[in-house]
Amino acid sequence: MKREQVFEFFRRLAEANPSPTTELESGNSYQLLVAVALSAQATDASVNIACRPLFTRIKTPRQMVELGEDSLRNAIKTIGLFNTKAKNVIALSQALIDQHGGEVPRTRELLQELPGVGRKTANVVLNTAFGEETFAVDTHVFRVCNRTGLAPGKTVDEVEAKLETIVPQPFRRDAHHWLILHGRYTCKARLPECWRCPVIDLCRYKPKTPPPEERTKPSAARTASRASSRARTGQARTASRPKANRSRSRPNRLP
Ligand code: SF4
Repeated sequence: MKREQVFEFFRRLAEANPSPTTELESGNSYQLLVAVALSAQATDASVNIACRPLFTRIKTPRQMVELGEDSLRNAIKTIGLFNTKAKNVIALSQALIDQHGGEVPRTRELLQELPGVGRKTANVVLNTAFGEETFAVDTHVFRVCNRTGLAPGKTVDEVEAKLETIVPQPFRRDAHHWLILHGRYTCKARLPECWRCPVIDLCRYKPKTPPPEERTKPSAARTASRASSRARTGQARTASRPKANRSRSRPNRLP
């Protein structure tokens, strides 16, 4: 995608949603870190459901450690991989107390040293809690970047590196939110909703998905064609039946 097209791509996403943010609910940077760590291979909605009652009681790493792994496991048991995640959240909370005075560190390197914190989690925290221009690449961002031709890459690292290079100001801070939301609600994995997409003319994906009413037309046509084909086949069968009868009756004519 050319530089002016990239600018236009984000200009339109920004126009449609001027203040994008994460859909994960949190009250401070520590809760955000926990929520993002819990969201791996789980939906933001499922994390919010589990974390809403948890976060009314637990706002600091020390409170989490005091809560303990068993109680945390019970609180997040509706989230996938909850056993491992409970262990990691207790361990990362203890590390925050021991190594960072109970505060969430502000560098990617220090964040990634915490148990259960990978590059994507670190990027989300740096961006959402501390306003850094980072590009967290999740499954939605990866798909949108490859489908559209915005920032194609074989791995999430390649896509992230490309986004770093091509996303212009003033869109760098919120780019990954726009891409996540675009992938989650419009450029969906199974059936991208191209007919209502604000960047349809900039996107290289083919074939574009037509509107629902147009998609039903071919199927109606297919039904009509199947009916007429059935009618023809039925006629053919009827026409061929006497032959079959003749063949079956042949032994009777034998001496
Ligand atoms: S046109 Fe379709 S494939 Fe392209 S970005 Fe929009 S929804 Fe996705």
